[in-house]
Amino acid sequence: MNDCIFCKIVNKEIPAERVYEDEKVLVFLDINPINQGHLLVIPKDHYETILETPENVLQDVILRVKKMAQVVDKISDGVNIGQNNKLAAGQLVNHLHFHIIPRNENDGLVSWPGKEYESEDERLKMAEEIKKIVKEVEEENP
Ligand code: 5GP
Ligand code: ZN
Repeated sequence: MNDCIFCKIVNKEIPAERVYEDEKVLVFLDINPINQGHLLVIPKDHYETILETPENVLQDVILRVKKMAQVVDKISDGVNIGQNNKLAAGQLVNHLHFHIIPRNENDGLVSWPGKEYESEDERLKMAEEIKKIVKEVEEENP
């Protein structure tokens, strides 16, 4: 049995304010909006995070993400697109979703705070480590 709340929305087992759908993708209002008009874009098939989602599914989803950003842009001054993966990153619903968040001048939301590298050496080491992992990931996912 699939206990996923977003699968239940896809299957109309629980209600949602559906604003767009096609064969592959569903868009509905987030029930607790950061700002009014906050949308969630999801694939109709269940994938937990972006990490294991097939590329063809992501292609379908990201094109609808752009379309919905164009929609939200018409009702706001700017648009944030957010996507959380795993609990540590704030993912509470384990069905891939993109947040499309309307933003307005002086809407009171703060951006992510930036940290600093302690030294240039630390920054360069981080870049080297990441470049190594990029190669590893490319080898694992040719
Ligand atoms: P996450 O933290 O996983 O990135 O975001 C999950 C989002 O789903 C939250 O913004 C939350 O408000 C929204 N959400 C959770 N349950 C429901 C629901 O039953 N219906 C709708 N429309 N949104 C939901
Ligand atoms: Zn699901």
